[in-house]
Amino acid sequence: MPKAWFIFMTHAAEYPLVAMETAGKTVYMDYASTTPTDPRVVKAMMPYFTEKFGNAASLHRWGIEAREKLEECRERIASFIGAGASELVFTGSATESNNLAIKGAALANRSKGKHLITTAIEHPSVLKPFQWFEKMGFEVTYLPVDRYGLVDPAAVEAAIRPDTILVSVMHANNEIGTIEPVEEIGEICREKGVLFHVDAAQTLGKISVDVRKMKADLLTVSAHKIYGPKGVGGLYIADGVEVEPLLHGGGHEFGLRSGTVNLPGVVGFAEACRIAEREMPMEAERLRKLCARLIEEICEIKGAHLTGHPEERLPTIASFWLEFIRGEELILELNEKGIAASTGSACSAGKLEPSHVLTAIGLSEAQARSGLRLSIGRWTDEEDVEYVVESLREIARRRGWK
Ligand SMILES: *Cc1c(COP(=O)(O)O)cnc(C)c1O
Repeated sequence: MPKAWFIFMTHAAEYPLVAMETAGKTVYMDYASTTPTDPRVVKAMMPYFTEKFGNAASLHRWGIEAREKLEECRERIASFIGAGASELVFTGSATESNNLAIKGAALANRSKGKHLITTAIEHPSVLKPFQWFEKMGFEVTYLPVDRYGLVDPAAVEAAIRPDTILVSVMHANNEIGTIEPVEEIGEICREKGVLFHVDAAQTLGKISVDVRKMKADLLTVSAHKIYGPKGVGGLYIADGVEVEPLLHGGGHEFGLRSGTVNLPGVVGFAEACRIAEREMPMEAERLRKLCARLIEEICEIKGAHLTGHPEERLPTIASFWLEFIRGEELILELNEKGIAASTGSACSAGKLEPSHVLTAIGLSEAQARSGLRLSIGRWTDEEDVEYVVESLREIARRRGWK
């Protein structure tokens, strides 16, 4: 029995996304925006809302129980990324982790200088903190990418100056799936004595994420991209790296993120990591095949072009630009057919601006407005792929493209 079907059979009642499919054809292909919480994750979380509700900062038995669980989860998630338990801080999202990494590290190390380096294709939660620093009198270098979305490690090396504090490069791009050469970049940063931050929100649980191999000093992760709950993120901060907190208060999370920890959320995050760790090798292979099929068949449609790297890409993101339809229009038409897709990222959707990632890889503004991102995951099957490909063919055909 295929796994998706097995989970459906055993969890249909508590799993509306799948149950809905029995009513009318729906296909969710927007896993890069967010994933459904795995029923096994929800199950693990439940007791921590009710009987095990304690505050991990309290001294009584309820507090001790919560604290023990919190540390057990920290250990599990940290080990999944090759880190020590003392090197992981829980936050409310990858957005918060990126802000804490960039603002926190730049502020703590500002005696060194006022120069920061990032790339043109980062997530807004990375780009915006850098833009904010520019207003504060810092200088920021935004590295370009090639037509596949790759950052050149030699360009990173050339951009580093004596007053550079930090380099931030994402592990894989959330719009076009390109995997960046973070290990080479990490090596360069380590040699030059510059802090290295990696946004791994899109890669955790899909490809190997190892902070030591990347020589990362700071690394961002998020639970809701890997079948965990929304509202929980993590930031790896290597031992000895100085970071100023953004939230001041009771001193939770080693003094770096005050506020009572979201224990049910953290328990869900840990369970999501446990499942991903166990299932990743087989699941990545299954997704790679489905993704390759999506790419192959959609590229056969006249006027459809792959975006991102042909090989160095996530097994979960098939991305294109289309000559025959604008992005937003396409998303609405696909929605009519019960298909969830995205133009670029969920964050830029609705803004009607061309994607900064697609313009960075050299597309014109008009082309960058016609992006399509299909992102697949745990419950995607062959039938979904067929339905989406057929739907796109039909939309192209109606516009006179074949
Ligand atoms: C989704 C995503 C984020 C933001 O994650 P949240 O947890 O929703 O704040 C940041 N960076 C990348 C690369 C992402 O894909």
